[in-house]
Amino acid sequence: MNPDLVQSGIGMTSERTRERLVNSLRREGIRDERVLEVMRTIPRHLFIEEALASRAYENTALPIGRGQTISQPYIVARMTEALLEGRELDRVLEVGTGSGYQAAVLSPLVRRVYTVERIALLLEQARVRFRQLRLRNIHPRLADGSMGLPECGPYDGIMVTAAPEGIPRQLVEQLRPGARMVLPVGGRDGQALVRVTRTARGYDTELLEPVNFVPLLGGVEP
Ligand code: SAH
Repeated sequence: MNPDLVQSGIGMTSERTRERLVNSLRREGIRDERVLEVMRTIPRHLFIEEALASRAYENTALPIGRGQTISQPYIVARMTEALLEGRELDRVLEVGTGSGYQAAVLSPLVRRVYTVERIALLLEQARVRFRQLRLRNIHPRLADGSMGLPECGPYDGIMVTAAPEGIPRQLVEQLRPGARMVLPVGGRDGQALVRVTRTARGYDTELLEPVNFVPLLGGVEP
């Protein structure tokens, strides 16, 4: 693990607080030891505003401004585990950078992370965090990610952290054959976490569990 990352995580929260988080993730069924180790190491308190930092290692979603939220650690771990399961991934695309926390969790686990956000302010804040933590394999981009990021693909994995109403065809097309995408799908009536695997003819889907994400929106804004 990158020493800057380890260093920056010390002080704000005790080993014990983080151990509690990891234990609660284990209880909820997270099994991948690499994922658990990363969840222990990434300083989540640096991804939220200072006023909320004392709650950073609780297993809850928290506001990050502009009506958006940093996902619950359990969901971050679950989606990461579902994306990686049994594979080594080279290029991964994340849609919905938000605070940058999910991208930071992916960073030590895959070779390159491309991450796209439509709100410029959030992306700038995430960029600063990536620089501070020297997460040099994360490539952030301001764009409407519902169209993906075709110029950097195809991808070995895609993770979407805002919910479209259905599975976006353009994203499926940016997966390599056999590659997977993990995303929440649905509207106000409920969403499900889905894992999509691209096949020769189209794609297969697996339903993972009910979730509650902010909606995937179009266009970019300041
Ligand atoms: N992965 C984030 C979670 C952020 S919440 C984290 O770890 O903190 C979802 C994010 O998706 C929000 O920041 C929202 O602005 C963004 N988003 C919604 N629609 C989008 C789109 N079409 N393209 C890119 N980002 C989008």
